[in-house]
Amino acid sequence: DDAPLLVSACLIGQPCRYDGAATPTTWVMDLVAQGRAIPFCPEIAGGLPTPRTPCELRRGKVVDRDGIDHTDAFLRGAEQGLALARLAGCAGAVLKARSPSCGLGQIYDGTFTGLLVPGNGLFAALLLAHGIPVRTELDQDRP
Ligand code: SF4
Repeated sequence: DDAPLLVSACLIGQPCRYDGAATPTTWVMDLVAQGRAIPFCPEIAGGLPTPRTPCELRRGKVVDRDGIDHTDAFLRGAEQGLALARLAGCAGAVLKARSPSCGLGQIYDGTFTGLLVPGNGLFAALLLAHGIPVRTELDQDRP
């Protein structure tokens, strides 16, 4: 299958995380090097700055550690990513685990205490809702 994958930009070393860091992951970087993946950060696409105050999901809303709601920016960025995935004909996505945008299956619980709860980030949820399969950097061996 030659269709590309959309991948979280922080996984290929782009310093787009809230703390200005990246989380480079070799097998995801290899996909890009092979021309099989397109990097994308929904939070940057939504207009958020880097670094930025960390956000978590709470009852479907995105709030930062100071209590400010950033749901609209997160949703705008997620829509941009969905549009890109469709334009490029992506077969799926490899996204950063536990992020309030990119996380899959497990995210932080909204209390900024490091506790995880079942759930998906807003971007992962949007892709799934539109039939685009998602896995994380922890799922290298999953098709
Ligand atoms: Fe990485 Fe996704 Fe967070 Fe952007 S929004 S820094 S791509 S985990």
